[in-house]
Amino acid sequence: MSLQVKRPKGTQDVLPADIMKWRTVEATVSDTAEQFGFREIRTPVFEDTALYVRSVGDTSDVVTKEMYTVSSKGDATFTLRPEGTAGVVRAMLENGMMNEGFPQKVYYIIPAYRHEKPQAGRLREFHQFGVEMFGTQSPYADAEIILLAAAILDGCGLENVALHLNSIGCPECRAKYREALREYFAPHREELCETCRERLEKNPMRLLDCKSPICREIASGAPVILDYLCDGCREHFEELKSILDDYGIKYEVDSRIVRGLDYYTRTVFEFISQDIGAQGTVCGGGRYDGLVQELGGQPVPALGFGMGLERLIMTMESCGCAFEPEKTPDLYIAPMGDAARRKAALLADAVRQAGYAAETDLVGRGLKPQMRYADKIGAKFVVVIGDNELETGEAKLKNMRSGEETPVKLSEFMNAFSSELINEVFENGLGDEIAGAVADEIEKDTSL
Ligand code: ATP
Ligand code: MG
Repeated sequence: MSLQVKRPKGTQDVLPADIMKWRTVEATVSDTAEQFGFREIRTPVFEDTALYVRSVGDTSDVVTKEMYTVSSKGDATFTLRPEGTAGVVRAMLENGMMNEGFPQKVYYIIPAYRHEKPQAGRLREFHQFGVEMFGTQSPYADAEIILLAAAILDGCGLENVALHLNSIGCPECRAKYREALREYFAPHREELCETCRERLEKNPMRLLDCKSPICREIASGAPVILDYLCDGCREHFEELKSILDDYGIKYEVDSRIVRGLDYYTRTVFEFISQDIGAQGTVCGGGRYDGLVQELGGQPVPALGFGMGLERLIMTMESCGCAFEPEKTPDLYIAPMGDAARRKAALLADAVRQAGYAAETDLVGRGLKPQMRYADKIGAKFVVVIGDNELETGEAKLKNMRSGEETPVKLSEFMNAFSSELINEVFENGLGDEIAGAVADEIEKDTSL
């Protein structure tokens, strides 16, 4: 027996039967981002390791435990992208985009790689949709990206994803807060998990993010960052909350939200689903006003979020949300005999060149299995071509939904077929659907 190679742990295959879930989500995120004026950016899957050490932070879980790093031929080491923000900032600086006027708004859909313990909703290769906005301090910008994330979740048909909101202040407010945390946790040192004991020295705020039940329990009585915010940070947070109130966006102020990556300042938020178990954070983001400078640029305020697409799809599945249906072929041409096969192949080609989707037999099967196949692939119409049809130059075009058959001249096939297809699309309710959607839009109250 030959050795069968398996896919690496923590990765997934997306099979054709599931592809429409991905297409639906990808279309929803990119269409909605574009409505908000974000433009797509694509950057390499791997970057210089230093990029992530400097941006994500050398005390973060990502850098200490989760990076896939390879050494290249020379001295360089590269890391598979664990998240999207650092690469985008690097690309924007390198390509002069930070000099092109603000705000700059970009989005991306990327695979990302983290060496984690695989479990439901936690993979080693996963996919993220992310947005980044540069060049504004305004709390309206914070509100806008939260609004965008909410619009996407809404567009996916999700209602039950709760927004948790917090502010983690600026480096000044945080210095005082860190001391308060150290003081609070120090007497509990021995009860903490090993990682948290280390965090206590290096970065005590991360203790609040620990998933171990004992650490969580201890952390529940810890001082709250909001009590330590400086005036500027407090005002920013108050204003953001009142803008969200204006939009009617519900949120819960949650002092446990500190985010896993070092670069955050002020606003941090997560959208958490109750429907997919422990790994319920579908979207996480916030402001990172120090990052661009950290990566060698001018001080440019920035903000954004990352949305885990596997978790988004899992949530949609568990809530019974609808995905776009797979497109079915417009026509299946069933030839009988060699002469007919030639004619069928040419006809399929002509139908495709006219912009329709057509298939014909490639296996050499009889009529019955061909009809079963046409049914399985969901062909809207079938035409059978045999010696008889070749002789008379006339065939029957069968509407597979209604069962109706229309005689068509092979010499005028394309005209007859396209008018039947258009009729079918309208009769099948699509016409009504479009009319209904227009009526809904008119009905909506757009006054403020
Ligand atoms: P978590 O607390 O779940 O580890 P994180 O803070 O490490 O998340 P981010 O770096 O903010 O996550 O990534 C943004 C989003 O990407 C997360 O909210 C989540 O939806 C998704 N995500 C992160 N890590 C994974 C993973 N290993 N597998 C699947 N999705 C992930
Ligand atoms: Mg993580």
